[in-house]
Amino acid sequence: MPAAVIDGKEIAANLRARIGTGVADLQATHNLTPGLAVVLVGEDPASQVYVRNKGIATKAAGMTSFEYRLDKDVSEADLLAKVNELNEDDAVHGILVQFPVPPQISQQTIIETILSSKDVDGLNPINAGLLASGLDALTPCTPQGSVILAKQTLGNLEGLHAVIVGRSNIVGKPVAQLLLQENCTVTMAHSRTRDLAGLCKTADILVAAVGIPEMIKADWVKPGACVIDVGINRIDASERGEGKTRLVGDVDFEAVAEIAGHITPVPGGVGPMTIACLLKNTLDAACAQAGIEKINL
Ligand code: NDP
Repeated sequence: MPAAVIDGKEIAANLRARIGTGVADLQATHNLTPGLAVVLVGEDPASQVYVRNKGIATKAAGMTSFEYRLDKDVSEADLLAKVNELNEDDAVHGILVQFPVPPQISQQTIIETILSSKDVDGLNPINAGLLASGLDALTPCTPQGSVILAKQTLGNLEGLHAVIVGRSNIVGKPVAQLLLQENCTVTMAHSRTRDLAGLCKTADILVAAVGIPEMIKADWVKPGACVIDVGINRIDASERGEGKTRLVGDVDFEAVAEIAGHITPVPGGVGPMTIACLLKNTLDAACAQAGIEKINL
């Protein structure tokens, strides 16, 4: 396997340690402890695991973790009331409502109700607009983590051709904006793109954010390219004798690793960066709300 595997777990652990130091500095110099509030609606098992892990990581970084669990039948009005209460709470610097939410609640209304200064998911249109304008913004965590992995692996990204497959507001679009800020030449691909394989083969950096297991094949990849796999897909593993299911990305890892220069694994690549970047956004948000300059990590 010629490709070097990018160790997202280690890069995330290093970032979390630096955040912990930043939090301790903030407490020592300004008596300020960043607080992150996570709201979970319903009992989706995967969401429960995510929320629990976020709480553990928040406390481990020295921040205050607030957790709210609401019944799956909660009305949109009651959830909005909770969000507004957190908007006004000075001990809470970041608010995250775990998605998906049940059908009686509009995800977009929730996104627009969270104050942009506390929007640590970076999904509020104000933050999306600031990011698109190249201004200081709270940026979505998974895209931020993906770009950190590319930068730590390749160094200066200037002039490289980045192809991003997927154009969602949560992943694809913000990845494109962040890579543009790194002076990449950016091409966005999606379900209507013609000759997707040929386009991907022109990428120095290939970001897969589609949600189709192992879609990106080895002959789609330029030799030596840096492949960042954002996809998380649970597939049947019984034929491999590896239990009932296993996680795979949007990239055919084993075959692509023979061609690429660098590649992120799934799990253990982009995934761990998401929580680390959530903590970073919470630290940045706490500083901004207190009128303190951002801590250099
Ligand atoms: P969405 O379903 O919102 O978006 C998928 C995108 O892929 C769309 O833009 C769609 O195009 C495009 N697409 C779908 N089919 C094709 C195709 N055949 N060829 C080319 N493009 C295609 O997904 P998300 O952006 O939310 O998530 C993408 C993946 O990332 C998922 O696997 C998700 O689980 C994972 N994810 C991982 C996170 C992490 O922490 N690592 C966090 C968030 C997501 P179109 O717009 O034309 O429909």
